[in-house]
Amino acid sequence: EQRNRALALRDPLSGLANRLSFGHALEAAAEKAQGSRFAVIAGDLDRFKAINDSWGHAAGDLVIRTVAARLSEVVGTNGLVGRIGGDEFVILVDAFSDRARLSLLASQIMTAVGQPITLDNGITTDVGISLGIAIAPDDAAGANAIMATADRALYASKDGGRGRACFAADADTSHGASHAA
Ligand code: GH3
Ligand code: MG
Repeated sequence: EQRNRALALRDPLSGLANRLSFGHALEAAAEKAQGSRFAVIAGDLDRFKAINDSWGHAAGDLVIRTVAARLSEVVGTNGLVGRIGGDEFVILVDAFSDRARLSLLASQIMTAVGQPITLDNGITTDVGISLGIAIAPDDAAGANAIMATADRALYASKDGGRGRACFAADADTSHGASHAA
């Protein structure tokens, strides 16, 4: 039963926390956010469909597993990495919440993810990642709100040309974004 419970909390492809367990961790962090700030970094691979289209779904799976391993390595003990959708990753950073260190972490993530990946057919490919960073409780407080805020910043990174990180506080508010100044 213990094993089943552990499996239910992991994404089987990547071994990362799945949407359910990441959500639990996020809720726990949000509940104590009054006393301690934290950050959420939403990530989505850039033009990932092209890898599936060019090299097949199995190659795409290998890329997802490789990205997951690199994210875990870079984030280390600074937070929790989850895979919450096809090529969507999310990181709960609880070790720090200042922009300087979050910027550095974001750069390290983009650099690590972008390293070449050798597929089973011997072909070397690479993939980029776009990031959106939200800081709780400054940008939003509740678990859902902070996730949505990080997502909005991620869209701003995609809109801005991909392969970049955007802080929610800097993301444009012209899309009718709901976060208060
Ligand atoms: P964008 O830069 O706009 O994010 O472009 P994208 O090509 O990455 O498009 P998007 O993020 O919308 O789509 C992600 C694709 O990931 C869609 C789906 O075909 C693929 N996908 C989803 N889950 C899996 C999976 O488990 N394995 C593989 N190989 N592909 C998956
Ligand atoms: Mg994508």
